[in-house]
Amino acid sequence: MHLSQNLLLSWYSEHKRDLPWRHTRDGWSILLSEILLQQTQVSRGIGYWLKLVERFPTPQSMADAEVDEVLHLWQGAGYYSRARRLHALSRQVCLSSNEGGYDGRLPTTSLELLQLPGIGPYTAAAVASIAFGEAVACVDGNIRRVMARQTKSISPLTKEVEHWANNNLFTSDAGNWNQALMELGATICTPKRPKCGTCPVSTSCSGRNEPLAYPLPKKIKRKRLDLMCELRYDASGLPQLVQRGDEGILAGLWGPPMAEEIDIESLEYIGEVKHTLTHRDIFVQVWLGTCQQGQEPTAVALSSLDQKILALGGRQ
Ligand code: SF4
Repeated sequence: MHLSQNLLLSWYSEHKRDLPWRHTRDGWSILLSEILLQQTQVSRGIGYWLKLVERFPTPQSMADAEVDEVLHLWQGAGYYSRARRLHALSRQVCLSSNEGGYDGRLPTTSLELLQLPGIGPYTAAAVASIAFGEAVACVDGNIRRVMARQTKSISPLTKEVEHWANNNLFTSDAGNWNQALMELGATICTPKRPKCGTCPVSTSCSGRNEPLAYPLPKKIKRKRLDLMCELRYDASGLPQLVQRGDEGILAGLWGPPMAEEIDIESLEYIGEVKHTLTHRDIFVQVWLGTCQQGQEPTAVALSSLDQKILALGGRQ
């Protein structure tokens, strides 16, 4: 059975959360929100979005900046590869059309957006529909869960979710429709406590009597990573910081030197820091020592892991 489009859209217009990116149709601002929300909670994402649109109101303003400045603004939001790809995207968009760019204007179709760094099918469809009105359906985790419950699917394949999303798409206002469906998944058809009693589309829902049975939770394999960190301070209490290389989860960020093995001679063990990412638990043994010249930590982009390490050192 199809979802009732009228019921969902009128529920959305009455109950949607007042989020700042919902007050703009500017494609670049909407793109920034979608990239942030890929892996940052909405409540935390708002502050980052406001800072980003203020400092980088256009693709050109970001393309003119160094990637370090984008990373610095991104500090604490996690998954820093997003910031690096966003910077690469801005530079690509600002190339001239002769060089394969878009002369500083964000492309407007999902097919073109999909060619840009860091843009997958979800983000391309979200930006193209919300900012530019393209009749294209989004598929994200919220929509997958709503689909699985509406159709009693235990483990729907992405293709099946796409098929369902396309079949139900409200083509004359796809941006609003996609957002309504995602809002339903985020606020009503939630993973653990779905509120079927107040759901605007419960009549078409085959799974409403046992919503928690759909979909089966995906098993996430967690990996453990053990590292050692040399936390060295100079005489004035500033830590030694290095910029990490271009690869890995902390690429481009600054922090005390870390490796799987370090030489611990003349260092003192001060404790362990644990840091949890979606698929990985990182355990860092922290060893304290001294150095000639430290660096001001607020002047560079630090990850949350590095901030925890510095907090353990207790001097910054
Ligand atoms: S009725 Fe319940 S399970 Fe079905 S879509 Fe609504 S909230 Fe989700």
